[in-house]
Amino acid sequence: MSQPINRENLQALRDHFIARQHELLSLTCALVETESPSGDKDGSSAVVSLLASAAGSIPSVKSVERITSENFGEHLRIRAFGDSEEKSSIIILGHTDTVHPRGAIKERPWRTEGNRVFGPGIFDMKANCAIALESLRACEAVGVQPRSGVTILFTCDEESGSPSGRPIVEAEAENARTVLVLEPPAADGSVKTARKGTGMFTIRVEGRAAHAGLEPEKGVSAVIELARQTIRLHEMNDPQNGTTVTVNVVSGGTHSNVIPAEARAEVDMRFSSADAGALVERNIRMLAPFDSRARVIVVGGINRPPLERTKKVEELYLHARTLATLLDFQLGEASVGGASDGNFVAALGVPVLDGLGVQGDGAHAEHEHIICDDIPTRGALLAGLIATL
Ligand SMILES: [Zn+2]
Repeated sequence: MSQPINRENLQALRDHFIARQHELLSLTCALVETESPSGDKDGSSAVVSLLASAAGSIPSVKSVERITSENFGEHLRIRAFGDSEEKSSIIILGHTDTVHPRGAIKERPWRTEGNRVFGPGIFDMKANCAIALESLRACEAVGVQPRSGVTILFTCDEESGSPSGRPIVEAEAENARTVLVLEPPAADGSVKTARKGTGMFTIRVEGRAAHAGLEPEKGVSAVIELARQTIRLHEMNDPQNGTTVTVNVVSGGTHSNVIPAEARAEVDMRFSSADAGALVERNIRMLAPFDSRARVIVVGGINRPPLERTKKVEELYLHARTLATLLDFQLGEASVGGASDGNFVAALGVPVLDGLGVQGDGAHAEHEHIICDDIPTRGALLAGLIATL
């Protein structure tokens, strides 16, 4: 029978993580040194092997499944507690891929500097993969077993927009009571209770080429048309409502003395509500040429729906904040522009809390690192959540 959660056993959970810090960091080091950039199938499988073997030694683990992804490697699904083959009510979501290309570990090897540990992909999110596994062990060791099954799902293509992970995440989350996402927290350690949705578009303009010196009037400049469309796109920005539309890559033309017959742009769009996203998506798709002789072709659309701060999300956050208080720290909440697999879950109406990973800085950057002393506290918070939800 599970004990009720209180200050005493939350601190026992933290003590468990303190006692296991060495093993946890050893696993993290092995994960970081096994490079797994998104799309590197061998790297993905190697990291999944490390995690599968670590999971196999945890007594509460009922099953470990490797799920092949044709283009990215392997996803990993670990079921613990509860009835083995049943879908679980608590899902812990993470990913094993990183954005760092192979060779990054040679340039920036595993390195400890005081309280910080550096390594490519450590903060986003290999340390958190190790913490997730340890949270299962911690619950059992302290005797605060969750009242139903827990599934840990590590996808292998999150950094590429989750083309193969998405259906697995959605199928797993569909009937879940709660989804906990181990993405890094905000800079001050806050969890993420809102994330914007994202859209990606390519705008291609077709004009007409002509000699720039002899008869420029016979040309239709795709560059001018695209420039005008760019300004129109920027006018769609509505920062107060959380909508941003930015043209971030442009190209066009063929030669310095030819009126350009073609031009293209890549557009990023972010939005805070599904309605706002649908409206802006429609406006972008309906872009009409200023010069009727030009053609404007739009491809792309919404990629991830927003994670909106619903009542359920708020309740989940408040619960986590209460546990954090019992662990003697203040857990803030943040709303951010970047998307994660948590966005897909939120769109299903399932309560989700994102940004539960360990503190650190430099996700995707050269100075990527974690704060070591934060591991026991975040680990205890995660284990406490599992035990009480
Ligand atoms: Zn991530």
